[in-house]
Amino acid sequence: MTSQNPSIVYRYGKGLYANITNRCPTACVFCIKSKWGMDYRGSDLNLSGSEPSPADVIAAARAQWQAAPFEEFVFCGYGEPTMRLEALLACARLIRNGRAEPIPSGIRIRLNTNGLANAVWGRNVVPEMKGLIDSVHVSLNTYDPAQWKALMRPMEPWEAAGFEKVKEFVREAALLLPEVCATAIEDNGVDLEKFKAFAASLGAEPRIRPRLGEGEPA
Ligand code: SF4
Repeated sequence: MTSQNPSIVYRYGKGLYANITNRCPTACVFCIKSKWGMDYRGSDLNLSGSEPSPADVIAAARAQWQAAPFEEFVFCGYGEPTMRLEALLACARLIRNGRAEPIPSGIRIRLNTNGLANAVWGRNVVPEMKGLIDSVHVSLNTYDPAQWKALMRPMEPWEAAGFEKVKEFVREAALLLPEVCATAIEDNGVDLEKFKAFAASLGAEPRIRPRLGEGEPA
């Protein structure tokens, strides 16, 4: 689906979600973006290659706040937000520095991610998030490297070492950020009890999500 006005931000529950890119280093089997034609509950999330600047994101978020306040600002769209790490951090910094008012500088900021940022950027990016991101939800999905590859379908550069790098990201985030959840989806053929224990061993709180099309996009 394409339209003249793709959504930079959209609402879900009590949050405002920022759709900052359509790029992904994975093609997850459970992704709903193609199945739903890039639409998410009435919002067209197809940016058509035109990624919003941090100023665009904040302007859109401000307008939403003025229409009705939200409780949480979430980086999560049809794409992996950390593919635009600098823009993501810039948006969070604008909020934290009071430059997105009337959005409160202390509002909870969450990142939903596939956890490949350290692999993509070739460095540990978690320290850059400290003080900016309150919560990270990592779509980890399994404890098994082969199953991870089958479920997440990473692009070639991240096929071999991707799972280890995601584990490293979760561990680092658990050390430095206030909240880290590792998520898995029901009915994906994963032993969820084993998954919960694995997530906890990395320092993350396990969260099990409903299958396709329910809840948030990524
Ligand atoms: S689920 Fe998220 S990370 Fe996976 S392909 Fe879809 S948008 Fe990308």
